Amino acid sequence: MRRITKSSRLTSTPRGDRCADWPVEVDPIYGCEIWRGKRSTDGYPELWVGGRNRRAYYIAWERARGPVPQGKELDHTCRRTLCVAVAHLEVVSRSENERRKQWARTSKRAICAAGHDLWLHGRRTPQAGIVCLICSGLK
Ligand SMILES: [Zn+2]
Ligand SMILES: [Zn+2]
Repeated sequence: MRRITKSSRLTSTPRGDRCADWPVEVDPIYGCEIWRGKRSTDGYPELWVGGRNRRAYYIAWERARGPVPQGKELDHTCRRTLCVAVAHLEVVSRSENERRKQWARTSKRAICAAGHDLWLHGRRTPQAGIVCLICSGLK
């Protein structure tokens, strides 16, 4: 009954939970929750859940916000692929073109997903993303 044990352990909230099942390190400048666990071969944070490897930020999102709609995927506003902070994730269209547009928009956007003014509350990441300091719990 290994699967049941694993999924029941995953019911705890990810944020700030630095146990072995959720190994993250919080970046105090940007509020990123940098994954310190296993990585996939292409460099994404990886977690073994329900009998398969999944990107850890999807697990974080699903636990906080519910399933990502069909045909959509998660994108990092901070543009740090190892970040699993729900406040730094957005649901975007799976199409590569739209995703590129989204990235371009991310670097110039004026408000965060929660409506905060990013000119006042945003902080640019070294990866040319932007994070909302209010949503990241830094303001
Ligand atoms: Zn981040
Ligand atoms: Zn915000």
